[in-house]
Amino acid sequence: MDFYIYDTMTRKKAKFVPLEKGKVKMYTCGPTVYNYAHIGNLRTYIFEDILKKSLEYFGYKVKHAMNITDVGHLESDADTGEDKMELGAKRENKSVWEIAKFYENAFFRDCEKLHIKKPDIICKATDNIHDMIKMIKILQNKGYTYISNGNVYYSIDKFKDYNKLANLSMNELEAGSRVEIDKGKKNPMDFVLWFTNSKFKNQIMQWDSPWGRGFPGWHVECSAMSMKYLGDRIDIHCGGVDHIPVHHTNEIAQSEGVVGHKWVNYWMHGEFLVLSNGKMSKSKGDFLTVSSIEDKGFSGLDYRYFCLQSRYRKQLLFNFDALKDAALSYKKLKDKVSNIILKSKQDKYNEIDENIIEYYKEKFSKQIGDDLNTPNAFTILQEVIKTDKLSNMEKKILIESFDNVFSLELVNHKNSKNSEVDEIIINKLIEDRNLARKSKNWVEADTIRDKLNSMNIELIDLKDGTKWRIKN
Ligand code: AMP
Ligand code: ZN
Repeated sequence: MDFYIYDTMTRKKAKFVPLEKGKVKMYTCGPTVYNYAHIGNLRTYIFEDILKKSLEYFGYKVKHAMNITDVGHLESDADTGEDKMELGAKRENKSVWEIAKFYENAFFRDCEKLHIKKPDIICKATDNIHDMIKMIKILQNKGYTYISNGNVYYSIDKFKDYNKLANLSMNELEAGSRVEIDKGKKNPMDFVLWFTNSKFKNQIMQWDSPWGRGFPGWHVECSAMSMKYLGDRIDIHCGGVDHIPVHHTNEIAQSEGVVGHKWVNYWMHGEFLVLSNGKMSKSKGDFLTVSSIEDKGFSGLDYRYFCLQSRYRKQLLFNFDALKDAALSYKKLKDKVSNIILKSKQDKYNEIDENIIEYYKEKFSKQIGDDLNTPNAFTILQEVIKTDKLSNMEKKILIESFDNVFSLELVNHKNSKNSEVDEIIINKLIEDRNLARKSKNWVEADTIRDKLNSMNIELIDLKDGTKWRIKN
């Protein structure tokens, strides 16, 4: 079966064809670790996680690299404003290194709560400065750069089709970079590859370079690390939609400037999570984190479930009522699955029909392979739960399989552990009842039967012992 992806570059849904058969090289832009990730950021990481797991579901071996930006990201993506790491350090009266370590750990803790799998390669900007300098040197040798006020700039006029990803007119692109005029730039959309002390004299994170002591620009980090860890052609590059006009546009200019050919085969962008009063803003401090939702009694997986009910390319409006509805529907789903699992334990004589399993797996694949249509994939899951064409054992096998993509602990969640505990309790009660019957203690035996009855368990006394089943 084919896997279809909406590619931002061509603005079309296209059949995914990997560079190398059976393998996928995927790069996703990681967090700037100066504060907690907000639930909007995390929506994008959930989308990327689903993408990776869907590709794996299709049998691809995915090599996934993600950067950790711990230097060089200014408040605006267009090189203006303060340095985000320095802002974090000032805010908390800590060193930038302490801030980076703390928020990197916090980020991965959040990811764990949302069942976002760790990338195979996690690369920190500060560990890869040498490779960024190497890339800037190549760009300089190829004539893409100029030096002004001590900084090294990328001259976008030197790169053909600079706006091909964003497909905005130059005026529109320019409007986005006009926040603060940098007099050193020849073109307002030029961007910094290497800052020297012209920008922040007291910057603590500094390295020697052919252009003086300083630090890299944010965009060059991703280009250099992606190339170092995944090579000069990659299959998929992802991020949020805000990265299209500046960050990813600049990444293309740098990377393709260096290699001289197409760098990324498919560009995928997740739409924003929005609040009814607009965007969440980290700089203003009014943003929601995993802790904020936990404080209101929701789990990370409630939020994951909430996100998966919408398609990643649609804006998603967040409010606590909507999260509450999602959490309720997630709980109902888990209860239904628990019931199926419990019942499946009695399907001992049931034969598994591989054809019907395959039939439903294909239905599911068709949806996730349709540019990650998660809402429809849930419809298939509900169909599996409801149908009487499948035994409980077959249902369990399918749910387990689908949950490799959803990662919602549908089969191995706490309740299902409870059902194992339930099973032990049920068997113990049956044993007690048998003992009571043996000693003709009918009152005790009936009390136990009533108790099981209240647990929705029906007893069937047969010649060779007592069997039980869940009442419908
Ligand atoms: P940052 O740490 O700011 O670089 O952002 C991390 C990721 O979150 C990037 O891929 C952004 O494009 C994405 N992002 C930022 N804000 C939102 C939002 N409100 N909704 C979804 N994704 C977002
Ligand atoms: Zn990036």
